[in-house]
Amino acid sequence: MRVQSAITALAVLVTTVAAEDRVSYDGYKVFRIDTHDNSEEIHRLIDGLHAVEVSCGESDHFELAVAPEDVEAFQALGLDASLLSEDLSVDLELEGPVESFYESEESNYTIEVRQQALPALSWFSSYRPYADHATFFSQMQAAFPQNSRIFNVGNSHQGRSIYGIHLWGPNGQGNRPAIYFHGTVHAREWISAPVVEYLTWQLINGYRNNDALVRSFFNKYDFYIVPFVNPDGFVHTQSSDRLWRKNRQPRSGTSCVGTDGNRNWNFQWSTPGGASTSPCSETYRGQAAGDTPEIRALTTFTNSLRTRGIKLFIDWHSYGQYILLPYGYNCQARAPNHNAQMSVAAGYSSAIRAVSGTRFTYGPSCSTLYATTGSSPDYMGGAMGAEYAWTVELRPGPGSGSSGFVLPAGQIAASGAEQWEGIKYVLNTI
Ligand SMILES: [Zn+2]
Repeated sequence: MRVQSAITALAVLVTTVAAEDRVSYDGYKVFRIDTHDNSEEIHRLIDGLHAVEVSCGESDHFELAVAPEDVEAFQALGLDASLLSEDLSVDLELEGPVESFYESEESNYTIEVRQQALPALSWFSSYRPYADHATFFSQMQAAFPQNSRIFNVGNSHQGRSIYGIHLWGPNGQGNRPAIYFHGTVHAREWISAPVVEYLTWQLINGYRNNDALVRSFFNKYDFYIVPFVNPDGFVHTQSSDRLWRKNRQPRSGTSCVGTDGNRNWNFQWSTPGGASTSPCSETYRGQAAGDTPEIRALTTFTNSLRTRGIKLFIDWHSYGQYILLPYGYNCQARAPNHNAQMSVAAGYSSAIRAVSGTRFTYGPSCSTLYATTGSSPDYMGGAMGAEYAWTVELRPGPGSGSSGFVLPAGQIAASGAEQWEGIKYVLNTI
């Protein structure tokens, strides 16, 4: 009892400290800024403000959340800006609390694992703490013991395992081309992990229930699913700063932390215009291609998939509801099978929309959204020969402004369900 209450007291203390360390967005106002091709100058002007960019990248505009003490200074700059949100913290509340699944279900967990039961679908009713996700994948693996394994790609900067689950069908593992998913390279894009988990759950469930369509996928492919490419960043969003994007790697000569893993891959890395060379930027590319522990480990792992080939790669992000095809580094560059990719993407978009009307725009990454260099899909398509290499930007839609990274928990299952219909179409068509 005494030990228990000491632990409880410690837990309370830790919680209190964590709450005090948390970045508050109380009173932050969110603006949409039109750049009028003057992006560099605008960034120079806003450089000294307490503000955070809340866009995924930049086309002719971007979104900026400005701290209350600097709103006046921001407005005095006279930029072409419109107000999207009066108070970012109110938008963040819409997400609902992060609730532990396995703590409340603890008594059932051992029994469920022994019975090889899949996790209950109520998993998808809330956002979950980081530790729960590993338990979720352990339970999934235990429910599919002859046809799956948990693998470790390598470790993050802070030493967390970058883990994944490998699923296979008849005739053993590693004999078929890869369907390869990455999630959460951008830490604040919380919907990406649960959607990837939803797809994994459906694949295993379908195989176990002898669903003919799902079985046909396993006859053709092995699945490699990495839900947290950037675990340090994700943990940071849960403990300290909900809107953190990059990894947590410091760099010498700057107090700014973090590199954008999706600008760090070794393909067209040094091409100008699709990433930042400033360590303080949200799209900082690093000092050299692949110089983050996360992308270095994933590059080695990805190379190992080349023997059987990568049929389809998807990097799952939010937000904006886009299906983005090659390429990001150049708005004229197209994949050799571009027409086939456009056709599959069109069918994918229609299959999503048929579920509950959600519209996903599709097209080549650079010309549809904005330029990106050193991105994972460009690397997969351009350097690894992946036949289809896409970015999918999940809910909410492009007009969501300030609350784009915050999708109410009530929409997690619906996001998963529409993607499952879309992915079934894709896997049945490619
Ligand atoms: Zn992203």
